[in-house]
Parts: sequence; structure tokens; C-alpha cells
Amino acid sequence: MKLFAYYDTGHEFSEEIIMAAGFTPYKILGDVHVSNDPADRYVHHYICPFSRSCLTEGMARSKDWVGIAFCHGCDTTNNQYDIWKYHVKTDFLYWINTPAKNDLAANTFHEKELRRFITHLENHFSVEITQDKLSHAIQTSNRVKHLMRELAALRSVKDIPNSAYHALTRKCVQMNKEELVELLEDKLKEWKNLPVFPADREPVLLTGSDITYGEVMEILETAGLRAVRDDLSLGERYFAQDISQEGDPVKALVDYHTRIPQPPTKIPFDARLSYLESCLKETPVSGIVYQILKFCEPHGLDLPFMTGELKRLGHTLIVIEREYTPTVDQQLVSRLESFREIIQRSL
Ligand code: SF4
Repeated sequence: MKLFAYYDTGHEFSEEIIMAAGFTPYKILGDVHVSNDPADRYVHHYICPFSRSCLTEGMARSKDWVGIAFCHGCDTTNNQYDIWKYHVKTDFLYWINTPAKNDLAANTFHEKELRRFITHLENHFSVEITQDKLSHAIQTSNRVKHLMRELAALRSVKDIPNSAYHALTRKCVQMNKEELVELLEDKLKEWKNLPVFPADREPVLLTGSDITYGEVMEILETAGLRAVRDDLSLGERYFAQDISQEGDPVKALVDYHTRIPQPPTKIPFDARLSYLESCLKETPVSGIVYQILKFCEPHGLDLPFMTGELKRLGHTLIVIEREYTPTVDQQLVSRLESFREIIQRSL
């Protein structure tokens, strides 16, 4: 099945529309192992390196994709759309103005945007995106989300390395969904038989910038920390909620995006805190790892409010800023090991 690429930052894109059009949605995640040099010719270094990596991937791989859609995520994605128009070769580049707010007017606007996107896809690719096709795509997505919830819940009771979980979250947004369901079903059987949660690991909640490559998860592992909950786009934000299978499927997609764990670009800002609080009530953790990618403005701006509130609620947390690099940063490992010692002493 042909790939249709998309670029969003907080799980704003409705993959089900692309599935209903007969394509496999493929989330552009960049490649930390490849130099950003091509993108750096057009974008300043102080712009988030992940987004420059995505532009590098777009310039190199757009011929493999039938089209590309952007969603209004953070300001970086918004501004990059204009750059992509000039520097990425594709027959179909589309902008979906997903709203930041979560009220009636914003939802009405979002619905119109999605219907406009559907019309453009139908006209450009000569396909019909019917209600039945959308409903079938939603059903498949819900199966993925259900399986991922089961798999993710095993993190706090079984010996599941951080990188194993992270690898699955990447597959969720890049693989054909029918094949993905089979893979997740097999993985669930495998993970249920793994040994119990290891005594030499501390369970933590992981939040902050989206983690798009496994080496970050290895830093936590090396420091003896296991992320058993998170609110990341490659993570629980993607599968915490089902999409309603009742009524109009486009309205169901709009409604879905109002209920998912919110990224920091969405208003009201305390929605993100509410999800973290619910995670912390549901799952015992020893502490919180709050990591931000260098130059990730939305998370940098959210940080004072979020960390202040989490501390006020009595949680122990560490804030780390990381570079966009696959090198396992030993300084970060040392800081996280110290954090682990602190939380162990306070238990
Ligand atoms: S890492 Fe931060 S700044 Fe970069 S694209 Fe994601 S949300 Fe935007």
C-alpha cells in the first residue's frame, strides 16, 4: 500500500482519513542518525533540530510518498510548511489548520477543515472517502489503540525495556495498520510471558518533548529508570482514547481530538496537567522525568507551570534538557542516576 506522509507535533493528524483513501499513513519522524545539513541551508540552527531532521527526510524521501499533509501543531511546524512548499518535491502538499482551542467554535472549524481535506484528497487522487470506509478505518485504529493500552499497561508489572516499548510506538505511526494489528497481537502474547518488573529498576512517569528515537530511552535504562507511564505523542497520547464508532465519523474524529491527552500547544493549558495527575493516581511511580529537547519552545514555555504544579502536588521530579543526538550522553546518565538515588532514599 502506498505511503501518505504527515507532519504533526502533538498527534493532531487524523490518520483514519488517509486509511479511508486507501493509503498507509506515515508520520514523518526524521532520522537522528542523518546529518541535518540539507535542511540547515534553509532553517536557522536555533529552530528545533527535530523539525530540521523532518525537513531533511522530506527532501530525501518525498518521492516515496503520494502526498504530504501538515497539521497546525507548534509554531515550528506552521512555519516549516512554507519552507516545504519550496524545497520538498511533491504533487500534493496540504495544510490542515487544526485549532489550538477546544470549544464549540474550534470544533466546528476543525470539522470544516477535515471535510475540506477529504474533498481535496478525493479530487486529487480520484478516490471516494465514504462514511463506511472512514468507519472501517476508525475500527482498525481503535483495535490498535486497545492493543497498545494493554501492552503499555504491562510496563509497570513486566520486564519491558524502555526501548522495546518505544519501538512499538514508532511502528504505530509508520506501519500499515492491518499488519500492525497482527504484530501487536503477537507482541502482547510475548510480553505477557516476560519476567516480572525487575527489582533494580525504578518506575517513573516520562513527560516533555516527544521522543522520536530509541537512544533517549536507553539513557533512562542505563540510569536504572523505567518509564511506566507517559503522555507523549509517540506514546499514550496516541492510544489513551478510542474514537467513537457512533454517528458521523468526521464528527467522531473531531471529538476524539478533544479527549486525548493534550500537548502544550493546546488551550486550556491545564488539560495536560490533568492527564498527568490521572496517570500518577492510577500507577505508582517513584518520580517524574521531565525532559525537553533543546529549542523545543512549546515544552520550554510549559515547563515552569507544569513543574511548579507537579511539585506542589508533592511529586519528585527531574528536569533535563537534551540535544538531538543518538549518542548516549553520559552526563545525562549521571544526573539521572543521582535522581534515582534521591528517590530511592526518599521511599
Ligand atoms: S520538538 Fe518541540 S519545537 Fe520541535 S516540532 Fe516538536 S513540539 Fe515543535
